[in-house]
Amino acid sequence: MWVYRSEIISENATQPGVLVHIEDDRGKFLGTALYSSSSQIALRKLTGERLQNQQQLLELLRQRVRTALAYRQWLLQAKDTNAARLIFSEADGLPGIIVDRYNDILSLHSQTQAMDRPEIKQAMVAELQTQLASSGVEHIVERVEPHIRELEQLPPAENHLLHGAKTSTQYTLNGVRFHYDALSGQKTGAFLDQRENYAAAEKYAHGKALDAFCYQGGFALHLARACTEVTALDTSRPALEVAEENEKLNHKQDQPEIEWIEANAFDLLKDYSSSGKQYDTIVLDPPAFAKSKRNLETALRGYKELNLRAVKMLRSGGVLVTCSCSYHVSEQDFRQMLTAAAVDAGRALCLLEMRAQSKDHPIVLGIPETHYLKCLICTVR
Ligand code: SAH
Repeated sequence: MWVYRSEIISENATQPGVLVHIEDDRGKFLGTALYSSSSQIALRKLTGERLQNQQQLLELLRQRVRTALAYRQWLLQAKDTNAARLIFSEADGLPGIIVDRYNDILSLHSQTQAMDRPEIKQAMVAELQTQLASSGVEHIVERVEPHIRELEQLPPAENHLLHGAKTSTQYTLNGVRFHYDALSGQKTGAFLDQRENYAAAEKYAHGKALDAFCYQGGFALHLARACTEVTALDTSRPALEVAEENEKLNHKQDQPEIEWIEANAFDLLKDYSSSGKQYDTIVLDPPAFAKSKRNLETALRGYKELNLRAVKMLRSGGVLVTCSCSYHVSEQDFRQMLTAAAVDAGRALCLLEMRAQSKDHPIVLGIPETHYLKCLICTVR
C-alpha cells in the first residue's frame, strides 16, 4: 500500500527514510511504513504490525529477503537459466529495492530514501550473501538511477561495486547466453521479465521472423533456434552492438545468421508493409508508451499502428507475439487495441496464449501495480 503526500492529514516524521506508524483520520492504527520526505509517494506500507524500533525493522527485512529467495528456489536450481530477479520491491514486501542476479553477480538498486540507508542496505546484502553463499554468487554491484535519486533528494552517485571484484559476466536464459556489464550506462542489464515469453515465442516461431525493438537480442536469439531467417531492429546502436556480441556466443552451424538493423520500427514497418514484405513470425516489444494514465490514448494509437502493420505482413498461419510493458495499458485495453488492428487489417487473429511477466517478477493479487507486462501470442488466419 502506498500513501501519497496529498493524502496525509498530519505528520510528525522529520527524518528522511525513517520508520513511521500510519493511522487513519480517527486515529485507528493501520500499520508501519517507510517514509520519504520528498517523493509524492510519502509512505510505503511494510506491515500491519506495529514495529517499534530499528532492530525489528531489520529483522523483518531479512525475513522478507529469505522469503523472496525461497519463492525462487525452483529458479535458483534451474540448469539452463542463471539470471533472475530475486527481489522485486512491493511484489516481495520490500518496497523500494530491486535485486537481480546475473550468474555470479548481484545487481542491487535502491529506489527510496529508506532503502538507501546504509544500515538497511547492509542488512539486506548480508542476508543475500548468507543465503546465496552456496550458489556461486560472489560479486555485488549497486546500480543507481540519477532521476530517481533526484526525486528522493539523495546525493548523486555512480554505479559501483559493493562487494567482490567482478563487474561483468555472462549469463544464461533458457540456454541462450548473454553478456552482462554491471557498470555500463544502460538502464538495465536485460529484460529478465521476458524470459518465459522468450521460450513461449520460440515454441510457436517458424519460417521468416522479425523482432522489432530487439534491444540486446532477447527474442531474436531465441527465434534463431526455431526460424530459417531472423531480422532484428532497434534504434539503439549500443544495444545492437551487444546483441551482435550475444549472437557470437550462441551461433550454431544450423542456425541462420541474424540481420541486425538500426532503425525506427514505426518507419521500417511502414516501409516493409507497403513494399509487400511477408513474415511467418513477428515480435513486437516496444518500450512503455503510456508512462501515465494521461497519455493512454496516444499510447494505444502507437500500439495499434505497430500491430496493424505486423498483422498485415504475417502470412496465414503466422505468429504474432505482441507485448506492452505499460502498467497503465490494461490487459483489456491491449486486447481491444489488437482486435481493432485485426479488423482494420481484415484478418482473424486466434489467441494462443495470454501471458504476463515471468514468475520471478511476481504478480501479487491486491497489488495491481505488480501486474504490468502483457504478452499476447496469436496466430493469424
Ligand atoms: N525485446 C527486448 C526489450 C525491448 S525494450 C528484450 O526482450 O530484451 C525496448 C527497446 O526499444 C529498446 O531497446 C529501445 O532502444 C528500442 N526502441 C525505442 N523506440 C524505438 C523505435 N521507435 N524503433 C525501434 N526501437 C525502439
